[in-house]
Amino acid sequence: MPHILLLEDDPAIARTVAYALERDGLGVTHALLLADARRQIAARTFDLLLLDVGLPDGSGLDLCREVRAAGHVPVLMLSARGEELDRVLGLELGADDYMAKPFSPRELVARVKALLRRSAAPAAVQSAAAPRHGFVDDAAGQRITLHGTALPLTRREYRLLRCLLARPGRICSREMLLADAWGDDTDSTDRTVDTHVKTLRAKLREAAPQADYIVTHRGMGYSLELPK
Ligand code: CA
Repeated sequence: MPHILLLEDDPAIARTVAYALERDGLGVTHALLLADARRQIAARTFDLLLLDVGLPDGSGLDLCREVRAAGHVPVLMLSARGEELDRVLGLELGADDYMAKPFSPRELVARVKALLRRSAAPAAVQSAAAPRHGFVDDAAGQRITLHGTALPLTRREYRLLRCLLARPGRICSREMLLADAWGDDTDSTDRTVDTHVKTLRAKLREAAPQADYIVTHRGMGYSLELPK
């Protein structure tokens, strides 16, 4: 469950906002003061910050600047005055969105969810699915994507690349590739491997012209070289 820090010194507004967010399945921690919000941020991580601008002990804009300097967490600024200056400053300081009071709680929840989706998507791809080199083997779909784009591989090419991907930087002999990618197909020979490596290489070049992934080791086989 995404957890949101709500910094708002007006208890009535805070209650309304917290209620609307919680009803939509979001967790909310409420801070009344800037100092309180700083303590909360130091104590745990939040998925999004909702920051009021005008607070008894300072400006939410200062906190926005601080969290931006520390790293990326989506920030939505709230302002009582609806002043254009707050809006401009908030966005300049790195806030992702801005709402002027009075706002509809429903609209606020919609914007919060949009920001959460936006921040979750690239992070998920980077950490879980796609390593830095960009190859992802979608075994269930029998395909491999490179930087998010599916490579137009035949079944043999797919198995060949999968075999090389499993041992990056190491030489795979033709016999090994034959056994892995062709299995029991006894009609295949070393030449078959060479032919398929050639077409695979052409497809990789088309997808990433600047890279040279497959290296030929004369008399030994092939290896897949991934950028560090
Ligand atoms: Ca306020």
